[in-house]
Amino acid sequence: MVWGGLYASAFERVRSSMGNAGRVLLAYNTNIDAVKYLERKDLEKRVERAGREEVFRYADGLPKRIENVPQLLGSILWSIRRGKAAELFVESCSTRFYMRQWNWDELRMGGQVGIMANLLGGVYGVPVIAHVPQLSGLQASLFKEGPIYVPKAESGRLKLVHPKEFAGDEENCIHHIYEFPRGFTVFGLKAPRENRFIGSADDYNPNLYIRPEFREHFEEITADVELAIISGLQALTKENYRGPLKIIKEHIEVLNELGIPAHLEFAFTPDETVRKAILGLLGEFWSVGLNEVELASVMEVMGEKGLAEKLLSHDPVDPIAVTEAMLRLAEKTGVRRIHFHTYGYYLALTDYRGEFVRDALLFSALAAAAKAKLGDVRSINDIVKATDVPVNEKAKAVEEGLVREYGMKDGIAEVNSYQLAFIPTKIVAKPKSTVGIGDTISSSAFVGEFVLR
Ligand code: ADP
Repeated sequence: MVWGGLYASAFERVRSSMGNAGRVLLAYNTNIDAVKYLERKDLEKRVERAGREEVFRYADGLPKRIENVPQLLGSILWSIRRGKAAELFVESCSTRFYMRQWNWDELRMGGQVGIMANLLGGVYGVPVIAHVPQLSGLQASLFKEGPIYVPKAESGRLKLVHPKEFAGDEENCIHHIYEFPRGFTVFGLKAPRENRFIGSADDYNPNLYIRPEFREHFEEITADVELAIISGLQALTKENYRGPLKIIKEHIEVLNELGIPAHLEFAFTPDETVRKAILGLLGEFWSVGLNEVELASVMEVMGEKGLAEKLLSHDPVDPIAVTEAMLRLAEKTGVRRIHFHTYGYYLALTDYRGEFVRDALLFSALAAAAKAKLGDVRSINDIVKATDVPVNEKAKAVEEGLVREYGMKDGIAEVNSYQLAFIPTKIVAKPKSTVGIGDTISSSAFVGEFVLR
Protein backbone atom coordinates (compact mmCIF):
# COMPACT_ATOMS: atom_id res chain seq x y z
CA MET A 1 0.00 0.00 0.00
CA VAL A 2 1.48 3.31 -1.05
CA TRP A 3 0.27 5.85 1.47
CA GLY A 4 2.32 8.68 -0.03
CA GLY A 5 0.16 8.74 -3.15
CA LEU A 6 -3.08 8.54 -1.20
CA TYR A 7 -1.96 11.41 1.04
CA ALA A 8 -1.14 13.63 -1.93
CA SER A 9 -4.38 13.04 -3.81
CA ALA A 10 -6.56 13.35 -0.69
CA PHE A 11 -4.95 16.68 0.16
CA GLU A 12 -5.40 18.07 -3.34
CA ARG A 13 -9.05 17.10 -3.41
CA VAL A 14 -9.88 18.56 -0.02
CA ARG A 15 -7.97 21.76 -0.78
CA SER A 16 -9.75 22.33 -4.07
CA SER A 17 -13.19 21.67 -2.52
CA MET A 18 -12.78 23.60 0.73
CA GLY A 19 -14.17 26.73 -0.94
CA ASN A 20 -17.53 24.95 -1.26
CA ALA A 21 -17.89 24.38 2.47
CA GLY A 22 -21.00 25.88 4.02
CA ARG A 23 -21.23 27.59 7.38
CA VAL A 24 -20.07 25.66 10.42
CA LEU A 25 -21.51 26.35 13.86
CA LEU A 26 -19.00 26.00 16.72
CA ALA A 27 -20.19 25.88 20.33
CA TYR A 28 -19.54 26.34 23.27
CA ASN A 29 -16.08 26.86 24.81
CA THR A 30 -13.69 29.70 24.05
CA ASN A 31 -11.15 31.21 26.43
CA ILE A 32 -7.78 32.91 26.71
CA ASP A 33 -4.75 30.71 27.38
CA ALA A 34 -2.03 32.71 29.16
CA VAL A 35 1.20 30.73 29.18
CA LYS A 36 3.95 31.32 31.72
CA TYR A 37 7.23 29.42 31.39
CA LEU A 38 8.31 28.84 34.98
CA GLU A 39 11.73 29.99 36.18
CA ARG A 40 13.38 28.43 39.20
CA LYS A 41 14.55 31.58 41.00
CA ASP A 42 11.28 33.40 40.50
CA LEU A 43 9.21 30.45 41.70
CA GLU A 44 11.41 29.82 44.77
CA LYS A 45 11.19 33.48 45.75
CA ARG A 46 7.41 33.40 45.47
CA VAL A 47 7.16 30.22 47.53
CA GLU A 48 9.32 31.75 50.28
CA ARG A 49 7.22 34.89 50.30
CA ALA A 50 3.95 32.96 50.52
CA GLY A 51 5.29 30.74 53.33
CA ARG A 52 7.22 27.64 52.40
CA GLU A 53 5.60 25.33 54.91
CA GLU A 54 2.08 26.34 53.96
CA VAL A 55 2.85 25.99 50.22
CA PHE A 56 4.38 22.53 50.62
CA ARG A 57 1.20 21.20 52.25
CA TYR A 58 -0.45 21.45 48.83
CA ALA A 59 2.51 19.92 47.00
CA ASP A 60 1.52 16.64 48.65
CA GLY A 61 -2.19 16.73 47.87
CA LEU A 62 -4.09 19.01 45.53
CA PRO A 63 -6.88 21.16 46.96
CA LYS A 64 -10.32 20.87 45.31
CA ARG A 65 -10.12 24.44 44.08
CA ILE A 66 -7.73 27.33 44.60
CA GLU A 67 -8.66 29.79 47.29
CA ASN A 68 -5.32 31.47 48.04
CA VAL A 69 -1.77 32.00 46.78
CA PRO A 70 -0.12 29.17 48.82
CA GLN A 71 -2.61 26.74 47.26
CA LEU A 72 -1.74 28.03 43.78
CA LEU A 73 2.01 27.68 44.31
CA GLY A 74 1.63 24.33 46.08
CA SER A 75 -0.44 22.97 43.21
CA ILE A 76 2.24 24.06 40.74
CA LEU A 77 4.82 22.17 42.84
CA TRP A 78 2.49 19.15 42.89
CA SER A 79 2.55 19.09 39.07
CA ILE A 80 6.31 19.59 38.84
CA ARG A 81 7.13 16.84 41.34
CA ARG A 82 5.03 14.28 39.42
CA GLY A 83 5.46 15.60 35.88
CA LYS A 84 1.69 15.49 35.71
CA ALA A 85 -0.82 17.91 34.28
CA ALA A 86 -3.54 19.27 36.53
CA GLU A 87 -6.19 21.91 36.18
CA LEU A 88 -7.98 23.67 39.03
CA PHE A 89 -10.56 26.40 39.23
CA VAL A 90 -9.29 29.59 40.87
CA GLU A 91 -12.02 30.93 43.06
CA SER A 92 -10.48 33.88 44.86
CA CYS A 93 -10.28 37.32 43.27
CA SER A 94 -7.05 38.17 45.05
CA THR A 95 -5.37 35.02 43.70
CA ARG A 96 -6.63 35.86 40.21
CA PHE A 97 -5.11 39.32 40.64
CA TYR A 98 -1.84 37.74 41.81
CA MET A 99 -1.77 35.60 38.68
CA ARG A 100 -2.39 38.58 36.41
CA GLN A 101 0.43 40.49 38.12
CA TRP A 102 2.72 37.49 37.76
CA ASN A 103 1.94 37.99 34.09
CA TRP A 104 2.51 35.65 31.15
CA ASP A 105 4.99 35.07 28.35
CA GLU A 106 2.49 34.25 25.67
CA LEU A 107 -1.22 34.58 24.98
CA ARG A 108 -2.96 31.97 22.88
CA MET A 109 -6.45 31.25 21.74
CA GLY A 110 -7.93 28.66 24.06
CA GLY A 111 -10.98 26.42 24.17
CA GLN A 112 -11.95 24.02 21.42
CA VAL A 113 -14.33 26.52 19.77
CA GLY A 114 -11.68 29.25 19.68
CA ILE A 115 -9.04 26.92 18.29
CA MET A 116 -11.35 25.45 15.66
CA ALA A 117 -12.70 28.88 14.67
CA ASN A 118 -9.17 30.09 13.95
CA LEU A 119 -8.34 26.93 12.00
CA LEU A 120 -11.55 26.57 9.97
CA GLY A 121 -12.27 30.29 9.50
CA GLY A 122 -8.81 31.83 9.75
CA VAL A 123 -6.80 29.18 7.89
CA TYR A 124 -9.20 27.22 5.65
CA GLY A 125 -11.50 30.16 4.89
CA VAL A 126 -14.60 28.18 5.88
CA PRO A 127 -17.28 30.49 7.33
CA VAL A 128 -17.89 29.76 11.02
CA ILE A 129 -20.25 31.05 13.68
CA ALA A 130 -18.65 30.75 17.10
CA HIS A 131 -20.04 30.75 20.61
CA VAL A 132 -17.75 32.87 22.76
CA PRO A 133 -19.03 32.93 26.36
CA GLN A 134 -17.36 36.27 27.10
CA LEU A 135 -15.96 38.55 24.45
CA SER A 136 -13.42 40.90 26.02
CA GLY A 137 -10.99 43.00 24.01
CA LEU A 138 -8.21 40.55 24.84
CA GLN A 139 -10.32 37.56 23.77
CA ALA A 140 -11.27 39.31 20.52
CA SER A 141 -7.63 40.09 19.71
CA LEU A 142 -6.85 36.35 19.59
CA PHE A 143 -9.17 35.68 16.65
CA LYS A 144 -7.60 35.49 13.22
CA GLU A 145 -8.94 37.49 10.30
CA GLY A 146 -11.33 35.63 8.03
CA PRO A 147 -14.97 34.58 7.89
CA ILE A 148 -15.35 34.13 11.66
CA TYR A 149 -18.59 35.44 13.10
CA VAL A 150 -20.32 35.88 16.41
CA PRO A 151 -24.00 36.77 16.72
CA LYS A 152 -24.73 40.17 18.18
CA ALA A 153 -28.21 41.19 19.25
CA GLU A 154 -29.04 44.83 18.61
CA SER A 155 -32.47 46.08 19.65
CA GLY A 156 -33.87 42.58 19.34
CA ARG A 157 -32.31 41.92 15.91
CA LEU A 158 -29.44 39.60 15.28
CA LYS A 159 -26.32 40.56 13.32
CA LEU A 160 -23.27 38.45 12.53
CA VAL A 161 -20.01 40.30 13.15
CA HIS A 162 -16.33 39.39 13.39
CA PRO A 163 -15.33 39.05 17.09
CA LYS A 164 -13.11 42.14 16.72
CA GLU A 165 -16.15 44.17 15.71
CA PHE A 166 -18.27 42.88 18.57
CA ALA A 167 -16.93 45.52 20.97
CA GLY A 168 -18.68 43.96 23.93
CA ASP A 169 -16.14 44.80 26.62
CA GLU A 170 -17.06 41.62 28.49
CA GLU A 171 -15.05 39.68 31.05
CA ASN A 172 -11.75 37.87 30.53
CA CYS A 173 -11.85 34.08 30.87
CA ILE A 174 -8.17 33.33 31.44
CA HIS A 175 -6.62 29.90 31.84
CA HIS A 176 -3.19 30.51 33.36
CA ILE A 177 -0.88 27.78 32.10
CA TYR A 178 2.34 27.25 34.08
CA GLU A 179 4.69 25.21 31.91
CA PHE A 180 7.89 23.48 32.92
CA PRO A 181 10.41 21.39 30.94
CA ARG A 182 11.59 17.91 31.90
CA GLY A 183 14.26 18.16 34.58
CA PHE A 184 12.97 21.51 35.87
CA THR A 185 14.06 21.71 39.52
CA VAL A 186 12.79 23.77 42.49
CA PHE A 187 13.76 23.15 46.10
CA GLY A 188 15.22 19.82 45.03
CA LEU A 189 11.97 18.66 43.38
CA LYS A 190 12.77 17.53 39.86
CA ALA A 191 10.17 17.20 37.08
CA PRO A 192 10.33 13.68 35.58
CA ARG A 193 8.83 15.01 32.34
CA GLU A 194 7.62 18.26 30.82
CA ASN A 195 4.08 19.29 31.65
CA ARG A 196 1.90 22.09 32.97
CA PHE A 197 -0.39 23.21 35.72
CA ILE A 198 -3.46 25.21 34.77
CA GLY A 199 -5.27 27.63 37.05
CA SER A 200 -8.58 28.69 35.48
CA ALA A 201 -9.73 32.18 36.28
CA ASP A 202 -12.91 31.54 34.37
CA ASP A 203 -16.46 31.52 35.74
CA TYR A 204 -18.09 30.84 32.38
CA ASN A 205 -16.59 27.88 30.48
CA PRO A 206 -16.37 25.45 33.44
CA ASN A 207 -20.13 25.92 33.99
CA LEU A 208 -20.83 25.79 30.26
CA TYR A 209 -22.43 29.20 30.29
CA ILE A 210 -24.57 29.68 27.19
CA ARG A 211 -25.04 33.24 25.95
CA PRO A 212 -28.51 34.79 25.68
CA GLU A 213 -28.12 35.18 21.89
CA PHE A 214 -27.77 31.39 21.65
CA ARG A 215 -30.55 30.68 24.11
CA GLU A 216 -33.02 33.09 22.53
CA HIS A 217 -32.15 33.06 18.83
CA PHE A 218 -30.74 29.59 18.20
CA GLU A 219 -33.03 28.85 15.25
CA GLU A 220 -32.11 32.11 13.59
CA ILE A 221 -28.39 31.51 14.19
CA THR A 222 -28.56 28.05 12.62
CA ALA A 223 -30.73 29.04 9.66
CA ASP A 224 -27.88 29.02 7.12
CA VAL A 225 -25.61 26.54 8.87
CA GLU A 226 -24.53 23.28 7.21
CA LEU A 227 -22.49 21.56 9.92
CA ALA A 228 -22.05 21.88 13.67
CA ILE A 229 -19.25 20.98 16.05
CA ILE A 230 -20.07 20.83 19.75
CA SER A 231 -17.46 20.83 22.53
CA GLY A 232 -16.75 22.04 26.04
CA LEU A 233 -18.85 19.59 28.08
CA GLN A 234 -15.78 18.13 29.79
CA ALA A 235 -15.56 20.49 32.77
CA LEU A 236 -19.13 19.95 33.96
CA THR A 237 -19.74 18.24 37.29
CA LYS A 238 -22.61 16.32 38.78
CA GLU A 239 -23.58 19.50 40.61
CA ASN A 240 -23.90 21.78 37.59
CA TYR A 241 -24.45 19.65 34.46
CA ARG A 242 -28.25 19.43 34.34
CA GLY A 243 -29.05 22.97 33.21
CA PRO A 244 -26.49 23.21 30.38
CA LEU A 245 -27.20 19.68 29.14
CA LYS A 246 -30.90 20.49 28.88
CA ILE A 247 -30.15 23.48 26.64
CA ILE A 248 -27.69 21.47 24.57
CA LYS A 249 -30.30 18.78 24.05
CA GLU A 250 -32.71 21.41 22.77
CA HIS A 251 -30.03 22.77 20.46
CA ILE A 252 -29.27 19.33 19.03
CA GLU A 253 -32.97 18.76 18.42
CA VAL A 254 -33.09 21.98 16.41
CA LEU A 255 -30.01 20.91 14.42
CA ASN A 256 -31.51 17.49 13.73
CA GLU A 257 -34.82 18.99 12.60
CA LEU A 258 -32.89 21.14 10.15
CA GLY A 259 -30.84 18.14 8.97
CA ILE A 260 -27.54 19.67 10.15
CA PRO A 261 -25.00 16.94 11.02
CA ALA A 262 -23.42 17.64 14.42
CA HIS A 263 -20.08 16.36 15.66
CA LEU A 264 -19.32 16.07 19.36
CA GLU A 265 -15.67 16.66 20.16
CA PHE A 266 -15.29 14.55 23.26
CA ALA A 267 -12.63 15.55 25.78
CA PHE A 268 -11.64 13.77 28.94
CA THR A 269 -14.54 14.23 31.35
CA PRO A 270 -13.46 13.33 34.89
CA ASP A 271 -16.97 13.31 36.38
CA GLU A 272 -18.57 9.91 35.75
CA THR A 273 -22.14 11.16 36.14
CA VAL A 274 -21.50 13.74 33.43
CA ARG A 275 -19.77 11.17 31.22
CA LYS A 276 -22.80 8.91 31.47
CA ALA A 277 -25.13 11.79 30.68
CA ILE A 278 -23.06 12.66 27.59
CA LEU A 279 -23.20 9.02 26.54
CA GLY A 280 -26.98 9.22 26.80
CA LEU A 281 -26.96 12.17 24.41
CA LEU A 282 -24.56 10.67 21.87
CA GLY A 283 -27.24 9.10 19.71
CA GLU A 284 -28.47 12.60 18.82
CA PHE A 285 -25.13 13.36 17.20
CA TRP A 286 -23.99 12.37 13.73
CA SER A 287 -20.41 12.00 14.80
CA VAL A 288 -18.02 11.86 17.76
CA GLY A 289 -14.24 12.33 18.00
CA LEU A 290 -12.01 10.89 20.73
CA ASN A 291 -8.57 9.53 21.64
CA GLU A 292 -7.65 6.28 23.44
CA VAL A 293 -7.93 7.67 26.98
CA GLU A 294 -11.34 9.14 26.20
CA LEU A 295 -12.58 5.96 24.50
CA ALA A 296 -11.42 3.90 27.48
CA SER A 297 -13.23 6.25 29.87
CA VAL A 298 -16.43 5.81 27.86
CA MET A 299 -16.02 2.02 27.92
CA GLU A 300 -15.72 2.23 31.68
CA VAL A 301 -19.08 3.88 32.18
CA MET A 302 -20.57 1.38 29.71
CA GLY A 303 -19.40 -1.40 32.04
CA GLU A 304 -16.75 -2.63 29.56
CA LYS A 305 -13.86 -2.61 32.03
CA GLY A 306 -11.87 -5.30 30.20
CA LEU A 307 -11.97 -3.40 26.92
CA ALA A 308 -11.10 -0.17 28.74
CA GLU A 309 -7.96 -1.76 30.18
CA LYS A 310 -6.99 -3.28 26.85
CA LEU A 311 -7.19 0.14 25.19
CA LEU A 312 -4.62 1.55 27.58
CA SER A 313 -2.22 -1.38 27.81
CA HIS A 314 -0.56 -1.47 24.37
CA ASP A 315 1.71 0.89 22.51
CA PRO A 316 0.62 1.52 19.81
CA VAL A 317 -2.97 1.04 20.91
CA ASP A 318 -4.38 -2.36 19.81
CA PRO A 319 -6.57 -1.53 16.76
CA ILE A 320 -8.74 -4.62 17.20
CA ALA A 321 -9.64 -3.53 20.73
CA VAL A 322 -10.35 -0.04 19.40
CA THR A 323 -12.62 -1.43 16.68
CA GLU A 324 -14.44 -3.59 19.23
CA ALA A 325 -14.95 -0.56 21.47
CA MET A 326 -16.15 1.60 18.58
CA LEU A 327 -18.63 -1.09 17.53
CA ARG A 328 -20.05 -1.32 21.06
CA LEU A 329 -20.36 2.45 21.20
CA ALA A 330 -22.01 2.75 17.79
CA GLU A 331 -24.42 -0.13 18.47
CA LYS A 332 -25.35 1.18 21.90
CA THR A 333 -25.90 4.83 20.94
CA GLY A 334 -26.67 4.85 17.22
CA VAL A 335 -24.06 7.54 16.52
CA ARG A 336 -23.28 7.33 12.78
CA ARG A 337 -19.57 8.12 12.76
CA ILE A 338 -16.81 7.57 15.32
CA HIS A 339 -13.41 9.11 14.65
CA PHE A 340 -10.67 7.67 16.84
CA HIS A 341 -7.20 9.20 16.92
CA THR A 342 -4.07 8.07 18.67
CA TYR A 343 -0.34 8.62 18.30
CA GLY A 344 0.44 6.87 15.00
CA TYR A 345 -2.93 6.16 13.42
CA TYR A 346 -6.61 7.11 13.09
CA LEU A 347 -9.71 4.98 12.56
CA ALA A 348 -13.23 5.96 11.52
CA LEU A 349 -16.22 3.69 11.94
CA THR A 350 -19.20 4.83 9.87
CA ASP A 351 -22.63 3.42 9.09
CA TYR A 352 -22.11 4.65 5.49
CA ARG A 353 -19.46 3.83 2.95
CA GLY A 354 -16.99 5.62 0.72
CA GLU A 355 -13.31 6.38 0.26
CA PHE A 356 -14.03 10.01 1.14
CA VAL A 357 -14.13 9.00 4.83
CA ARG A 358 -10.53 7.72 4.62
CA ASP A 359 -9.42 10.66 2.47
CA ALA A 360 -10.74 13.17 5.01
CA LEU A 361 -8.69 11.37 7.67
CA LEU A 362 -5.60 11.68 5.47
CA PHE A 363 -6.19 15.40 5.06
CA SER A 364 -6.58 15.84 8.82
CA ALA A 365 -3.38 13.90 9.53
CA LEU A 366 -1.47 16.16 7.17
CA ALA A 367 -2.97 19.19 8.91
CA ALA A 368 -1.93 17.79 12.31
CA ALA A 369 1.61 17.13 11.12
CA ALA A 370 1.82 20.65 9.66
CA LYS A 371 0.71 22.08 12.99
CA ALA A 372 3.26 19.99 14.91
CA LYS A 373 6.01 20.95 12.46
CA LEU A 374 5.29 24.66 11.99
CA GLY A 375 3.60 25.55 15.29
CA ASP A 376 1.20 27.86 13.51
CA VAL A 377 -0.42 26.97 10.20
CA ARG A 378 -1.15 30.21 8.35
CA SER A 379 -2.90 29.00 5.22
CA ILE A 380 -4.17 25.76 3.78
CA ASN A 381 -1.14 25.80 1.47
CA ASP A 382 1.14 25.54 4.52
CA ILE A 383 -0.23 22.05 5.09
CA VAL A 384 1.61 20.79 2.04
CA LYS A 385 4.85 21.45 3.95
CA ALA A 386 4.10 18.36 6.03
CA THR A 387 4.21 16.09 2.97
CA ASP A 388 7.83 15.15 3.65
CA VAL A 389 7.13 14.10 7.26
CA PRO A 390 7.45 10.30 7.25
CA VAL A 391 4.54 7.98 7.89
CA ASN A 392 4.78 6.41 11.34
CA GLU A 393 6.73 3.12 11.20
CA LYS A 394 4.83 1.50 14.06
CA ALA A 395 1.57 1.85 12.13
CA LYS A 396 2.70 -0.92 9.77
CA ALA A 397 1.98 -3.61 12.37
CA VAL A 398 -1.36 -1.94 13.10
CA GLU A 399 -2.27 -2.07 9.42
CA GLU A 400 -1.21 -5.72 9.13
CA GLY A 401 -3.36 -6.60 12.13
CA LEU A 402 -6.41 -4.97 10.51
CA VAL A 403 -5.73 -6.72 7.20
CA ARG A 404 -5.56 -10.09 9.00
CA GLU A 405 -8.61 -9.53 11.16
CA TYR A 406 -10.97 -7.74 8.78
CA GLY A 407 -9.46 -8.21 5.31
CA MET A 408 -8.85 -4.49 5.10
CA LYS A 409 -7.80 -3.16 1.69
CA ASP A 410 -6.39 0.30 0.97
CA GLY A 411 -7.35 1.30 4.50
CA ILE A 412 -10.98 0.25 4.15
CA ALA A 413 -12.80 -2.76 5.59
CA GLU A 414 -16.31 -3.95 6.25
CA VAL A 415 -16.94 -4.80 9.91
CA ASN A 416 -20.39 -6.00 10.98
CA SER A 417 -22.61 -3.58 9.12
CA TYR A 418 -20.15 -0.70 9.34
CA GLN A 419 -17.27 0.62 7.25
CA LEU A 420 -13.94 0.86 9.03
CA ALA A 421 -11.42 3.34 7.59
CA PHE A 422 -7.79 3.35 8.72
CA ILE A 423 -4.82 5.61 8.05
CA PRO A 424 -1.26 5.63 9.39
CA THR A 425 -0.35 9.18 10.47
CA LYS A 426 2.71 11.28 9.94
CA ILE A 427 4.59 11.92 13.17
CA VAL A 428 6.81 14.96 13.61
CA ALA A 429 9.86 13.90 15.63
CA LYS A 430 10.51 17.29 17.23
CA PRO A 431 7.16 19.07 17.27
CA LYS A 432 7.07 22.86 17.66
CA SER A 433 3.66 22.67 19.25
CA THR A 434 1.04 20.04 19.97
CA VAL A 435 -1.46 22.32 21.71
CA GLY A 436 -4.92 21.83 20.27
CA ILE A 437 -3.70 19.21 17.83
CA GLY A 438 -6.62 16.90 18.68
CA ASP A 439 -9.05 19.70 17.75
CA THR A 440 -7.17 20.20 14.49
CA ILE A 441 -7.50 16.50 13.65
CA SER A 442 -11.20 16.18 14.46
CA SER A 443 -12.44 19.38 12.85
CA SER A 444 -10.33 18.93 9.69
CA ALA A 445 -11.60 15.38 9.22
CA PHE A 446 -15.26 16.20 9.88
CA VAL A 447 -15.40 19.24 7.62
CA GLY A 448 -13.10 17.54 5.09
CA GLU A 449 -15.47 14.60 4.82
CA PHE A 450 -18.43 16.80 4.02
CA VAL A 451 -16.63 18.85 1.37
CA LEU A 452 -15.57 15.62 -0.35
CA ARG A 453 -19.10 14.27 -0.57
P1 ADP B 1 -4.89 17.41 22.77
O1 ADP B 1 -6.04 17.41 23.71
O2 ADP B 1 -3.60 17.90 23.35
O3 ADP B 1 -5.20 18.00 21.46
P2 ADP B 1 -5.35 14.72 21.85
O4 ADP B 1 -5.02 13.44 22.53
O5 ADP B 1 -6.77 15.04 21.61
O6 ADP B 1 -4.59 15.87 22.62
O7 ADP B 1 -4.60 14.75 20.44
C1 ADP B 1 -3.29 14.37 20.33
C2 ADP B 1 -3.12 13.70 18.97
O8 ADP B 1 -2.16 14.45 18.25
C3 ADP B 1 -2.56 12.30 19.06
O9 ADP B 1 -3.60 11.36 19.07
C4 ADP B 1 -1.73 12.19 17.80
O10 ADP B 1 -2.50 11.61 16.76
C5 ADP B 1 -1.41 13.62 17.41
N1 ADP B 1 0.02 13.96 17.63
C6 ADP B 1 0.64 14.10 18.80
N2 ADP B 1 1.95 14.41 18.64
C7 ADP B 1 2.16 14.46 17.30
C8 ADP B 1 3.32 14.73 16.47
N3 ADP B 1 4.51 14.99 17.02
N4 ADP B 1 3.16 14.71 15.14
C9 ADP B 1 1.95 14.44 14.59
N5 ADP B 1 0.83 14.17 15.31
C10 ADP B 1 0.92 14.19 16.66
